[in-house]
Amino acid sequence: MATLEVKNLHVSIDTQEEGRQEILKGVNLKMSTGEIHAIMGPNGTGKSTLSETIMGNPTYQVTEGDILLDGKSILDMPVDERARAGLFLAMQYPAEIAGVTNAEFMRAAINARRAEDDQISVMDFIKFLDKNMAVLDMDEDMAERYLNQGFSGGEKKRNEILQLMMIQPSFAILDEIDSGLDIDAMKVVAKGVNSMRGDNFGALIITHYQRLLNYIVPDVVHVIMDGRVVKTGGPDLAKKLEDEGYAGLRDELGLDI
Ligand code: ADP
Ligand code: MG
Ligand code: MG
Repeated sequence: MATLEVKNLHVSIDTQEEGRQEILKGVNLKMSTGEIHAIMGPNGTGKSTLSETIMGNPTYQVTEGDILLDGKSILDMPVDERARAGLFLAMQYPAEIAGVTNAEFMRAAINARRAEDDQISVMDFIKFLDKNMAVLDMDEDMAERYLNQGFSGGEKKRNEILQLMMIQPSFAILDEIDSGLDIDAMKVVAKGVNSMRGDNFGALIITHYQRLLNYIVPDVVHVIMDGRVVKTGGPDLAKKLEDEGYAGLRDELGLDI
């Protein structure tokens, strides 16, 4: 079992207009493999900041607190080292990379997590790729195309889930993977994530809407507002938010934000 813990995390960014700004103001969160947690919250409250900071995007400066993987701080690790340690981030806006095919990218990512004498063979890779692409109902030629180049919004999201299934991280952070997806594409994405469920996998699903959580049912739901986790509960918390809105929760908690 692996654990991921975010402890009293404070994060600032330097903005051109307003100088240095604190975005996360003491976030606490703990999860283990075998669990799926959801993070919900209004737009602009720091959800993407949290995921980018966990992955090590240097734009986001940690001024206080820690992020621990299996009890060890990862703050000094660059992005690629965090990925090798078992973290995976599916971004709200996946990057396009010219000159590297999707398949090449995934094989390199898989092998980066394996010892030198345990690299995946081309045959095994292709078998595994075919199997996962079938689960996601993806066109075969997607593997040979340059990473995300000319992919539609829906194809990019599906491809992020394919990468997830291929790389098999300990923890995946899925930032708004439902944005811009129609209901059928969302069901396919959910099918892929649900196929990963098990003792060796945990996910942090970030979403503004409850909709996705009908298909990927979380064990725990956290609500972030103004840079803090203001409430943690079970799947029913997501439903309550859908019914009453974030304003309802603000009133309930007596928050003036
Ligand atoms: P969410 O994902 O919850 O919508 P974000 O984490 O993207 O929120 O943003 C939180 C706040 O931080 C917003 O006010 C946003 O404008 C600001 N912010 C985040 N990233 C940057 C950045 N790279 N440059 C400037 N402002 C940023
Ligand atoms: Mg946003
Ligand atoms: Mg966001």
